[in-house]
Formats: sequence, structure tokens, C-alpha cells
Amino acid sequence: MSICRRRDSDSHRGLPYTILSRARLPVPPLRQKITDSIINEKISVVKGEFFNYNICMARVISIVNQKGGVGKTTTAINLGAYLAYLGKFVLLVDIDPQANATSSLGIDHNALERGVYHVLVEPVSFRDVIQGTHHQGYKLAPATPDLAGARVELVSLDSREFRLREKLLEVKNDYDYIIIDCPPSLDLLTLNGLIAAEEILIPVQAEYMALEGLGQLLNTINLVKENLKPDLKILGAVVTMFDKRNRLSGQVADDLRKNFPHKVFDTVIPRNVRLTEAPSYGQTILSYDSKSAGGRAYEDLAREIIGQEYFIV
Ligand code: ATP
Ligand code: MG
Repeated sequence: MSICRRRDSDSHRGLPYTILSRARLPVPPLRQKITDSIINEKISVVKGEFFNYNICMARVISIVNQKGGVGKTTTAINLGAYLAYLGKFVLLVDIDPQANATSSLGIDHNALERGVYHVLVEPVSFRDVIQGTHHQGYKLAPATPDLAGARVELVSLDSREFRLREKLLEVKNDYDYIIIDCPPSLDLLTLNGLIAAEEILIPVQAEYMALEGLGQLLNTINLVKENLKPDLKILGAVVTMFDKRNRLSGQVADDLRKNFPHKVFDTVIPRNVRLTEAPSYGQTILSYDSKSAGGRAYEDLAREIIGQEYFIV
């Protein structure tokens, strides 16, 4: 059966004789069947992947609380890092003109030519501004100082509340999670953050008057839900800067659970100095000190959020 008996250099062009002769042998019918079925399986896997790719768009989570300094940015950057660490493709979108998320990830926002502002008010795509971070699978759409002007400039633009949502559609298929870090206000930027998201995560600082303002935030979320975004969901509230030595911290967490049953994450983020230090080195807690109490808490939060994927239809 072997066609290639001669070992002259022209006929096998340097290939070992046995390989060449096997390649020229007709494939036995059974093997052909197996080969065909493997090829078909591969095609269906590819088709399946393509199908999944189309239907599995990112979960878009906005981190919102109009109260300042409650841990929104700390939660956004570290939750994003741990989601990426756990194998998800993550995009963090910084829509706060303070650009704290951008600088916390070690990027000098003053030196950037383009950022989220340009995406919102100019014909610039998210793909033109997205940058890598020092974590695999974790990208950032940075804020630049111009973003403060967007609050005013957006007012005169068409579909001003929907700009972020529309622009995010271009990249929604590229990620498993898109996390939006909102500014401490209920302005047009935050409104864009609410409408672009499917889920809202509310960090609540465990301190005096923690629940104050929460009613106003929930009213705003309800108004958005009723008038602009019926499928908007509250993912939950997460207690931040919890100090177990302080009785008030415990009371705040209890009050929150009483007022919002089933809407408060089991994970509580402790007050932890390592979380405060990490941004000054341009690092997340994952790279700075993953064994710290803060690092372990954000990993738990990421796992809790991934765990909810199974309940999302
Ligand atoms: P803003 O409303 O100004 O955007 P924010 O809600 O994003 O603020 P952060 O910037 O995350 O809040 O946090 C405010 C300050 O509290 C920062 O200095 C941060 O390092 C610190 N901080 C946040 N979370 C913790 C924590 N769990 N333990 C200790 N410090 C924390
Ligand atoms: Mg912030």
C-alpha cells in the first residue's frame, strides 16, 4: 500500500520517511469516521462558543452612593481586581472627575490625552481609551480632569442620560464584568452610570448617619427604574470600613440588614489600613497585600457576586 518507498531526498523533502508514507496512505474508513466526528464536534464547539459569546454580555455593575468617602472607589478597584483574579474579564470605567480610580491604579490622569469624557461627548470609542492594568484580564477606561465639564456639556447633547450606555454597547461583548465607579452626587454623570448598569452596588460606611441619604438614593434608583430603565436591579449594599471593636459599626450593619432584608452582602469590608495604603503605590489590595483582612474581604465579595451569576436569567 505504501506509495512512498523510495528514500530519495526529492520525494520526501527532508520529512522522515514514515511520516510521509503515512500521510499518503488513504485513511481507513473507521478512522475517517472518527476524524469527521472530531471535526464536527470542534465545529459545534466553535459554533457554541460563538453563540455564547453573543448572548453572554458583561454584567454591568455601577457602584453608587451620593455620600462622599464611603468606599465606592476602594470597592470598585479591588472588586474589579479580584473578579479578574478569579478568571473574569473586567473593565473598570471611571466616571468620577476626581479620577480616584484611575490614579489608584497607578495611572497619571493629568498626563492622559483621552478618557471617558471624550467617549461621552466626542465621537471617540471606548476602545480608543481603554488601558491595561498590572492585572491580567483587568482593563481601565480612565477619567481625565475634563470629565468635570461633561456635567454641563452633556446637558445640550441628544440622549444625554443614555450616552454611557450607548457607548458601552461597543465593548459589552468583550468583558464578563463592567464596573462603573460613580462620583459622590446624583448628577448627570451618575444618572449615566445608573442607566448604563443592570445592577447597582451600594457601599455603606459603617458609621454614624450611615443610612442617611440612602432613602434619597433608593428614590432616585426607583425613578430611573420606573421611567428609563425598568430592568435596573439593586445588586445589594455592602458594609465598608467595619470596625469590630466599635459597637456603632455592628449597629449600622444590623440596621442595614433589618431595613434591607436579603439585599445586604454577607461579606463585610473591615476598616483596614492596607486598603488605604495600596492606592498611594498605584496598586490594588490584590497586588499590595492580598493576605490582609481587606484583601481577603474583597476576594470574598467577588466570590459572592460571581456566585449570584447562577441566579441571573
Ligand atoms: P468619593 O465619594 O470621594 O468618591 P469614595 O466613596 O469613592 O469617595 P473611597 O475613595 O473609596 O471612597 O474611600 C475614602 C477614603 O477611605 C480613602 O482614603 C480610602 O483609602 C479609605 N478607605 C476606603 N475603604 C476603606 C477601608 N475598608 N478601610 C480603611 N480605609 C478605607
Ligand atoms: Mg470615589
